Amino acid sequence: MHYLPFARPTLDESMISDVADTLRSHWIASGPQVQAFERALSEYLGGQPVRVMTSATAAMEVAFDIIGLQPGDEVITSAMTFFSVGNMIHRSGAKTVFVDCDLVTRNLDLDQVERAITPRTKAIVPTHFSGLACDMDRLMGIAARANIRVVEDAALAIGSSWRGRKIGAFGDMATFSFHPNKNMTTIEGGALVCATEAEARRAEVLRFHGIQRLADGTRDIVDAGGKFNMSDVSARLGLAQLSRLDEWCARRRKLAAAYFDHLEPVAEARGIVLPARAHADDPAGHSWNMFCVLLPLSRMQGSRKDFMAAMHERGIGIGVSYEAMHLTTLFRGLGHREGEHPNAERIARETVTLPLFPTMTEADVARVCENLLQLID
Ligand SMILES: *Cc1c(COP(=O)(O)O)cnc(C)c1O
Repeated sequence: MHYLPFARPTLDESMISDVADTLRSHWIASGPQVQAFERALSEYLGGQPVRVMTSATAAMEVAFDIIGLQPGDEVITSAMTFFSVGNMIHRSGAKTVFVDCDLVTRNLDLDQVERAITPRTKAIVPTHFSGLACDMDRLMGIAARANIRVVEDAALAIGSSWRGRKIGAFGDMATFSFHPNKNMTTIEGGALVCATEAEARRAEVLRFHGIQRLADGTRDIVDAGGKFNMSDVSARLGLAQLSRLDEWCARRRKLAAAYFDHLEPVAEARGIVLPARAHADDPAGHSWNMFCVLLPLSRMQGSRKDFMAAMHERGIGIGVSYEAMHLTTLFRGLGHREGEHPNAERIARETVTLPLFPTMTEADVARVCENLLQLID
């Protein structure tokens, strides 16, 4: 039986030939394809300026540079997010202020966000977990009242929306990832949605050494930039992928529905915690980058590691998203401890990510569920 990975990018011959055309053009670093990809992304997201980079992590680093994070500032984020968020906040010099997440949606708890705001709070960084949008009306309201920035970690959420409005269209900044496990890929890559054209121009400078062109044709540096520009080869793949994104997200929603069909009738009795369904007022707003469940570990013989190994033996790949950021050695070193964020900590212990990608079949979903239910007996 074929091995089912937990994530797999969709690449077809026409995309491969588009990429080959770009290689044959001999213009392979940043150029016309990057510009075309940025225009297409901006149009897809509703018009805010977009600049592409080598990763979502790079885009977040540039975003934090643009909003001027520095020592003394505080940034509120969820303890249940990918490492890159905590890392980038930490590297900016600002203090990371963690709040817990909801156990089922895994999105950050907005009551706790409100309580965590201080005069030093500079930004909130929400992660749209697995492609399910946070409550953007409430979040943007909280930020506006406190006069703080929002930098959405939308790495998993290209193609998602909140009440019919695309993630990436809420007026402040957002970062997307085009890593092969996400909803669309440029191999490695990411995008930064900017609040204004002026900030987008600043992002262009910061992603390419900080270089500014002077009237006399020479170049100057005012602020030290990094090297985060995307290649035209990647951008050409991104353009082809973007044209298929909505179709792939629709397919992900169908497969997620198949998971619910198999697991919902037995979940409670078997002690499995299923993910949240899409918000009722926007059923197509969830792009389902991942289908994550909590295992009933206290009732199981073996550990999560044993479970993953057994699924692997049966030809099924399983992921873990994510560890609890505040319990990394980095943040323990800054004083964080177990017990601070119980939902994030429980998710970190019990979560597994089941296979979900557009070219999977409903029969694959059935096979995953059958094996899962056998192994948790
Ligand atoms: C993948 C991911 C990132 C980082 O994306 P890169 O493009 O690999 O830098 C950030 N946040 C979340 C939630 C992710 O899943």
